[in-house]
Amino acid sequence: MNGLAPALDRAGRPLFADVAGDIEVSFEFFPPRTEKMEQTLWESVKTLEPLAPRFVSVTYGAGGSTRERTHATVERIARETSLQAAAHLTCVEATREEIDDVARSYWAAGIRHVVALRGDPPEQGASFRPHPEGYANAVALVNGLKAIAPFEISVAAYPECHPESRNKAADLDNLWRKIDAGADRAITQFFFSPECFFRFRDQAAAMGIEAEIVPGILPVSNVAQTRKFAGQCGAAIPDWMDRLFEGLDNLPAARQLVAATVAAELCGQLYAGGVRHFHFYTLNRAELSYAICHLLGLRPKTNIQEQAA
Ligand SMILES: Cc1cc2nc3c(=O)[nH]c(=O)nc-3n(C[C@H](O)[C@H](O)[C@H](O)COP(=O)(O)OP(=O)(O)OC[C@H]3O[C@@H](n4cnc5c(N)ncnc54)[C@H](O)[C@@H]3O)c2cc1C
Repeated sequence: MNGLAPALDRAGRPLFADVAGDIEVSFEFFPPRTEKMEQTLWESVKTLEPLAPRFVSVTYGAGGSTRERTHATVERIARETSLQAAAHLTCVEATREEIDDVARSYWAAGIRHVVALRGDPPEQGASFRPHPEGYANAVALVNGLKAIAPFEISVAAYPECHPESRNKAADLDNLWRKIDAGADRAITQFFFSPECFFRFRDQAAAMGIEAEIVPGILPVSNVAQTRKFAGQCGAAIPDWMDRLFEGLDNLPAARQLVAATVAAELCGQLYAGGVRHFHFYTLNRAELSYAICHLLGLRPKTNIQEQAA
């Protein structure tokens, strides 16, 4: 045999060989609780910034518990980096007036992009009850935001169906209404089967949903923690995931390598199916998302500019 045979993907093509780097990415962070977490977040933002993401977004804690921290983080990103910062906003436990005030203050601070969500109640497992004077769901929130200012708006989508939906058709219908209300794109809950995403994308297209549907990618390095998240949002964790991470509990570096490989292969298959924008749930850590972007051919924009000069 001449040289080393490359690893092949399921279609028999060399893994990662035909990804041209012609992708766009976005990164999601959560607002830090402590000074140490703030430092980690900031290092991650700075590490990922040269990849020139389309935007970075900052989540909003259950029940609006992070309102000030989300605001402060989004504003700092907008002020101190070249990145477009998007603020997540939910309808939980707030009146319409309170939510509108938050939105107005974002607009005044130059924040033009909101990820508009219904949100979940602060007590885990409880069912959502809209505030009597609040927005009832994400459709109502999108309408409310559009009445305040011409925000760019992203909304949530669920390839494996939202756990509270009657069925997939009702869930897709809800997505259609969010787009119809003025949302520009949908970002999906995380998933681990590319076929599941493609099916969802096809069903959405068949319903006339033309807005882009961006896959949300969660690089998994801790299966137990991911299982906890997945239980709450209805995402399935395949059996092979447990087997892959078996025996790696005390080997964090090996776990990271496995995690990057698994997520990069998922992205590679999505790329082969035409996906060109990936949204990464970074959990405020840069390494995994950076490595996956690199495997997909993305390179720091500053280096490329310097080399060209
Ligand atoms: C990309 C992304 C980012 C997220 N960020 C956050 C965050 O920052 N903070 C946070 O707390 N949560 C966040 N979440 C989680 C989200 O808040 C929950 O999944 C929540 O349960 C649903 O929010 P939604 O915006 O999808 O709700 P909606 O689109 O309003 O839908 C929720 C459910 O209600 C059903 N429904 C809605 N309206 C009707 C109606 N009129 N009649 C019947 N059924 C209806 C829908 O089909 C669906 O099952 C995020 C999720 C994603 C995918």
